[in-house]
Amino acid sequence: MKSHYLPADLRLTQAKMPEFTALNMPVHRASTLTYSSARDFLNRFERMIDGFSYGLYGTPTGRALEKQIAEIEGGEHCMLLPSGLAAVTHPLLSLLKQGDHVLLADCVYGPTRDLCTSLLAQYGITHTFFPSDAATIEPWLNDATKLVVLESPGSYTMEIQDISVIATQAHKNGALVLMDNAWGFGQIDCFKHGVDIVATALSKYASGHSDVCMGACTVKDRALFEKLKMSFIGLGTGVSADDAYLVLRGLQTMTVRLAEHAKRGYAVAKWLDEQPSVSQVFFPALETDAQHDRFKRYFDGGNGLISLTLHETDISRIERFIDSLEHFRIGASWGGTHSLIALTNISNSRTSAKWKGASWILRLHVGLEPIETLMQDLEKAFSTFTSV
Ligand SMILES: *Cc1c(COP(=O)(O)O)cnc(C)c1O
Repeated sequence: MKSHYLPADLRLTQAKMPEFTALNMPVHRASTLTYSSARDFLNRFERMIDGFSYGLYGTPTGRALEKQIAEIEGGEHCMLLPSGLAAVTHPLLSLLKQGDHVLLADCVYGPTRDLCTSLLAQYGITHTFFPSDAATIEPWLNDATKLVVLESPGSYTMEIQDISVIATQAHKNGALVLMDNAWGFGQIDCFKHGVDIVATALSKYASGHSDVCMGACTVKDRALFEKLKMSFIGLGTGVSADDAYLVLRGLQTMTVRLAEHAKRGYAVAKWLDEQPSVSQVFFPALETDAQHDRFKRYFDGGNGLISLTLHETDISRIERFIDSLEHFRIGASWGGTHSLIALTNISNSRTSAKWKGASWILRLHVGLEPIETLMQDLEKAFSTFTSV
């Protein structure tokens, strides 16, 4: 048996393939990159930020995706991370130090909230949650506030903060603004409104098929980019070229998928708003939604994500409603082609004020199945509330 198997010399193979001009960016997998001299190897750190030095720190496939994300977000520099959550937690860990204070919208993604109450607290970093639909953050800013975290529309409850006013106040206080833009990716230019760091979950509509976990962190400022990038390198964070390829492929159809999800989402939200079992629909693109004015001011379009509360408060009956659905599958995340339903007890995860609505919030993701099938599915499930 041979002791090792090496492919034929790559340089030779590549020189022999000038006609293999694939339309799409190929998948460039690598841990090791080779260097032509010892000096080159010793100088590799110079290539760490923009060039190629080691697979973990960037591949041509990943860089192509970063370039495209930066363009979509309206920024200059993008860094890929292994999840949407990592795209939020990494900047927090990189920019905050002991004694600092971080201000967050009360509606932030649950795990973002948990990072503040666990790890950040352990490192001596304090936090305050401010009301999710705030038009001002002045009452909660202090000298130690170094970062303000926004999320609009917020997880489950869909509040929209007055982003540009808040960004101005934060900057006057010497704080940076990070926006978790999982919802609005491709529908808002956060930088135009003063946001410094835009985090997004590419696991959602960007990849679009519920089979990739990835996130991106985009900035405009070069110095901020270098600071974040060096921290992310230090934390040992990177993504695989295979995953980057899948997101690049997803992006090719994102605009048409998103438009279709938004159209269906709107139709289902409007219909839900008229159902006797439903107490409230949370869908900012709906004219009757409390957030609609800010939605129009900040976003170019909507998507297929709808939250709702029910008159029914008995969890076992709510479970029966959910379990009776056939086409809406039960599961977290959203942005793929399938319709999904998730639920949460919101009263435990809002602390700036007592949550006034019903405790159990249901969240639908309207997928690309025939809309009549989805409506019938919901209608049949609603009938479980009237039957004994
Ligand atoms: C989905 C989501 C995330 C996390 O994305 P993952 O890729 O699943 O880690 C973070 N923030 C918000 C607002 C999200 O909706």
